[in-house]
Amino acid sequence: MRTLTVPSTTPAATASVSPGRQALDAALFQLDQAADRLDLDDSLRTMLATPRRSLAVSVPVRREDGRMDVVQGFRVQHNTTRGPARGGIRFHPRTDVHEVTALAMGMTWKCALAGVPYGGAKGGVSLDPASLSARELERVTRRYVNEVLPIIGPERDVPAPDVGTDERTITWIMDTYSVNAGYPVPGVTTGGPVTPGGAPDRAGATSRGVRIAALRALGGSPEGRTVAIQGFGKVGAPAARYLADAGCLVVAVSDRTGAVIDRSGLDVDDLRAWSEETGGVRGYRRADTLSWEELLELDVDVLVPAAMEGAITEENAVRVRAGLIVEGASSPTTPGADRVLADAGVTVVPDILANAGGVIVSYLEWLQDMQARRWSAREVDARLRGIMEDAFDTTATVSAECGITLRQAAHVIGVGRVAEAHRARGLHP
Ligand code: NAD
Repeated sequence: MRTLTVPSTTPAATASVSPGRQALDAALFQLDQAADRLDLDDSLRTMLATPRRSLAVSVPVRREDGRMDVVQGFRVQHNTTRGPARGGIRFHPRTDVHEVTALAMGMTWKCALAGVPYGGAKGGVSLDPASLSARELERVTRRYVNEVLPIIGPERDVPAPDVGTDERTITWIMDTYSVNAGYPVPGVTTGGPVTPGGAPDRAGATSRGVRIAALRALGGSPEGRTVAIQGFGKVGAPAARYLADAGCLVVAVSDRTGAVIDRSGLDVDDLRAWSEETGGVRGYRRADTLSWEELLELDVDVLVPAAMEGAITEENAVRVRAGLIVEGASSPTTPGADRVLADAGVTVVPDILANAGGVIVSYLEWLQDMQARRWSAREVDARLRGIMEDAFDTTATVSAECGITLRQAAHVIGVGRVAEAHRARGLHP
C-alpha cells in the first residue's frame, strides 16, 4: 500500500512525533485505506492528502499585567471542491498545524458523507483558555480573527465552536469580522447564540446527532441501556441529557477534573449544575468516583468518547467492554485500537458520522438564511434526523456489502464523493 504524506509546514514536524502529528498520520492512514478501495490514482490521492490552504499566524496578546505574549494560531482549509469550507476553532495548548490539518480533513469527509455542500476546514490557537481572563480571551480571539481574515467569510470558510471555544467566542469572531467589513455579517460564523444569526439550539446539534447515531446503531428499544460518556463539555453534556431523555441510563461521566459513576443512573441535570458551579464533575456527592481509565473500560452498552483525540488506544482497547462506541469526539480512536475493537466485535460509529449533527444544522441554518425564513426547532430536528439516518443507513449498507467496518465504509463514501467532485470539476488551469 502506498503511504500518503503531507508536506510539513512547520519545523516542529521534524521533532519527536507530537499528538497532532499522530492525529494527522491516522487521518492519512484512513484516507489511504479508502483510496485503495476506490482505486484512486496517485494524483488524486495527493490532491486529497494535501490541504488547499494552510495559514499559520502569530497572535500577540496583551496580558492583564501589561506583558505581551505571542501564541500560534492556524486555519487550514483542507478541501473546497464540494463547497465553501466549514469547521470549528479550537483553543487548546497542544494544538498544532498537524492536528488542525487532520481535523480539517475529517471535516471534508464528514460533509461529503452527510451530503451537505461544504468542504472541510479547522482552526486552532495553541493556548489554554482556562489560563486567560475573559478580557484576554476576547483580545486573543479578535486578534486571531484579524490574522485569518483574508481567508474566512460566509462564502469562503465559516468557523464554528470546538474544544475550548463557545458561543461567546463565536460572537467575538462574528463581531470582529463585521467591524472589518463595515456591515453585519452573521453568516461568517455558525454555532453562535440564537441572536444574532444563530439557529435555535445549534449548540446542542452535534449531541442530538450523537443520540440519533447511537439509537440507530443500538436498534431495538433504548430503554434502560447503559451509557458511559467521556467528556462533559459542549458535546458530552447535552449528549448525556438527550440519551437520558431517550430512556438510556447514563451511569458514568468524566471530564478533565475526574470521573463519577452511579450504576442506577446519574441525574444528568443535577450533575451539569454541579459541574457548572464547581468547574467540573469532580467531587459530585451523589455518585461514586472512578478513574478516567476505568470509565473507558466499564461494562456498559454504549461508550461515548466526547473529549479529545486518541482516548482509545491499542493498549486500552483490549479492556473496552462496551458493545458499541459512538464517537462524539473527533478521532478518539487510534487506527491500532480500531483493529483491536473490530477483532473483538465492538461496533464503532465513527466520528465523521456520529458527530455530523453540528455541521448538518449549520447547513439547515444557511438554508433558512438564504430563503429568509425560520423553521421551528421541531422542523430542524426532523430534517437533522432524516439526514443523519440516511447517512447512517448508507454507511451500514456499504459496510455490510463490502465486509468492512463502519469507519472504513464512511471513509469510502466520503472520500469517494470528494474524488468524484474533483473529477467532475477537472484541474485548473
Ligand atoms: P469542550 O471543550 O466543550 O469539552 C471537552 C470536554 O472534554 C470537557 O468536559 C473536558 O473537561 C473534557 N476532557 C478533556 N480531557 C479529558 C480527559 N482526558 N478525560 C475526560 N474528559 C476530558 O469541547 P467540545 O466542543 O465538547 O468537543 C469535544 C470533542 O467533540 C472534540 O473532539 C471536538 O472536535 C468534537 N466535536 C465537537 C463539535 C461541537 O459542535 N462542539 C462538533 C463535532 C465534533
